[in-house]
Amino acid sequence: MQVVNFHHYGSTEALTAAFGERWRYIGRPNKRFALPASPLANRYSHNPLAHVQEGCASREEAITRYARWLQEQVLAGETAVCDELSRLSDQSVLVCWCAPQACHGHIIQRWYQEQQVAYVNLGGSRDLSRRWQSLVQRVVSAVHAQGRGITVGCARGADAFALEAALERAACLRIFAIGGRDGRGFWRQSAVDTIGQAEAAGRWIHWWAGGPCPCPSCQGEANGSRCPTLIQRLSARSQLCLQFAAGSGGGAGFIGFLARPDSPGTVACARLAVHLGLPVILFPCGFNGQALPTLGNGRWTVAGREGVWAAGYRWTPTAGEGSERGNYL
Ligand SMILES: [Zn+2]
Ligand SMILES: [Zn+2]
Repeated sequence: MQVVNFHHYGSTEALTAAFGERWRYIGRPNKRFALPASPLANRYSHNPLAHVQEGCASREEAITRYARWLQEQVLAGETAVCDELSRLSDQSVLVCWCAPQACHGHIIQRWYQEQQVAYVNLGGSRDLSRRWQSLVQRVVSAVHAQGRGITVGCARGADAFALEAALERAACLRIFAIGGRDGRGFWRQSAVDTIGQAEAAGRWIHWWAGGPCPCPSCQGEANGSRCPTLIQRLSARSQLCLQFAAGSGGGAGFIGFLARPDSPGTVACARLAVHLGLPVILFPCGFNGQALPTLGNGRWTVAGREGVWAAGYRWTPTAGEGSERGNYL
């Protein structure tokens, strides 16, 4: 898929000569060239002469707001938008007026790529020390280099390190947040600043991924009293994140970073991943791999001979305890 500028061709005939039926106009209506409005056109613009309902201060803002709009349309199953997206393929040529400058076409392109890749769910201990951040970064680099996307939750520690690294590398990314866009529903262990960076970058965030909460102004916990749905929402969020990875096809998996052998949330995720048939790799951070807890019937072996994988352990279930879905290496 590529994004091109109409002006470089000058007419619909020239586009057809160059690309056959593969080009699709994604802009606002244009009388001069008889181009109809695309369902994927950007509703936002920084150009004061553009006929849009909402003006923006900059091109970047117009594109970020478009990313949010596109996500909302897809989640709502908006017919015109979803139909148009479903017609796209690897060979599609998106035609707008911006390239080589940043264009909302690049958001569509990223959406398309993010539909095609398999996802690895990265997570781990909330109290993982900064000392292990570079290990998480190297694992994110390795997963990204293999053409896989990354799913993460929104906790401090391992989740936040993985999320920051995925943002820096512009990796395909799906974020599963415990709270809402308005800031409700998070708690003191949430990496709210990092989620804010992802939101500002127009990345895809599943808000309230563990389900809604009844509190009018939920902060997760305050003055020692906990949101009645917090524990349940955290667990449901982790499940959804893993199920999303498991549904993304061959090459999916779970990778966890444990600050100690009995880090309960991460071990529960690893067990669920085994149950879903996902390959599981755990990195013991500051303790010996021999101390890794069992995930059922099976055994731990060193994940790889070289590179970052040499520090990880892969769970091999005994036959029948979840199927092998593919190899990382
Ligand atoms: Zn454009
Ligand atoms: Zn609440």
